[in-house]
Amino acid sequence: MRKPTTIETLYLDFDGFFASVEQQARPALRGKPIGIVPFEGTQHTVVIACSKEAKARGCHNVMKVPDALKACPDLILVPQTPDLYRRAHNTLLAEINTIIPIDAVKSIDELTCRLDTSQIKNPHDLADKIHNRIERYVGPHITCSIGFAANRQLAKIACKQDKPNGTTIWTPDLVPEVLFPLPFDDIPGIGENMQRRLNKIGVYDMQRLLALSPKHMRKIWNSVTGERLWYVLNGYALQAQKSERGMFGHGRVLPPDQRSIPEAFQIARMLLIKAARRMRKAGYYSHKLHLWCGMRESSFGTSIALSGVHDDKACIDGLKAVWARLEASVPRSSRIIRVGVTFGDLKLAGQRQTDILLNDDPERQKWEQVSHAIDHLNAKYSGSIVTLGPWTPPKGGHLGGKISFTRIPRAEDFW
Ligand SMILES: [Mg+2]
Repeated sequence: MRKPTTIETLYLDFDGFFASVEQQARPALRGKPIGIVPFEGTQHTVVIACSKEAKARGCHNVMKVPDALKACPDLILVPQTPDLYRRAHNTLLAEINTIIPIDAVKSIDELTCRLDTSQIKNPHDLADKIHNRIERYVGPHITCSIGFAANRQLAKIACKQDKPNGTTIWTPDLVPEVLFPLPFDDIPGIGENMQRRLNKIGVYDMQRLLALSPKHMRKIWNSVTGERLWYVLNGYALQAQKSERGMFGHGRVLPPDQRSIPEAFQIARMLLIKAARRMRKAGYYSHKLHLWCGMRESSFGTSIALSGVHDDKACIDGLKAVWARLEASVPRSSRIIRVGVTFGDLKLAGQRQTDILLNDDPERQKWEQVSHAIDHLNAKYSGSIVTLGPWTPPKGGHLGGKISFTRIPRAEDFW
């Protein structure tokens, strides 16, 4: 296992994201204690996020409204505006991307990047550039905290140590000692149950925990997760166990007059192209395609292996193969009410296990270029201007729904 001798990763976490976005967008809220609530005009709800001014007066995220008002009587309750947060997220990512490529978006307010040689030498300079860029091009009311370390998990812990607007650098020579004073609560992967289990065997602090052997941690956790945590906390570079992203998929109910098998195929093909487009944009390749069809009395589901692809041609070929199975197993007169397609077993470009036979396949490379050119044109004109095959969306629109940053469809949604 590799143990980096320098920092390699940046982790960035926006400070009080929802509240600071509201304050940036609405000057009247700046400098005031505000609490974001799900809906307007009800006391029977919770403050889902609060501003630093509210935090300074004893409020915290996920707190009942009456309790929050008791702690801070002049708290301003602000109903959430998810679309504003989504747009702020996109804007912030675009600005950060001008300074450093984003490796993975972990949530609406957290992301991580890999450092190049010059950034490794001068992390303070990089952090200043990011802070300045956001201040100048988005606004001074949205701030972030940044952590640097040998691996992502350590960088994440580091980034929470100096909030708000701080920069924390944990070079490998500081690890693991720098973790000794931290409470277990600061360590992702040590929940309440695990804390109880650790206390039971006399481990009350990080110093004692890190004195255990990796095998011992595995035994306590009763899984390899414990062993992995030991290596991560001791500054080793561990490969992610699986892709960060679960899947890309779309499904929909078919209009009553478009439920024959050939008509359903055309809609499935468009759903598939939409999902493939999102998958390419996120930089993933798929090794598995799932198809699900719901009929009045029964349903049909199947999946096939793909060879780590994301171009439209290969994806459509995959769909044709699963569709042939559908045609072979349901009566020709079947009416399909719902159809769903999902790309699973995703790998990022860098983690793709390249198939020697396919990687050099000039056909594949040609179709990847074609797909990227199509994406470029469609992005330029904000629509499906160019597609592989006809594009006649079914009545009712909403082919595939909206992109969500908080909810990623799961396999079960389609089975
Ligand atoms: Mg945050």
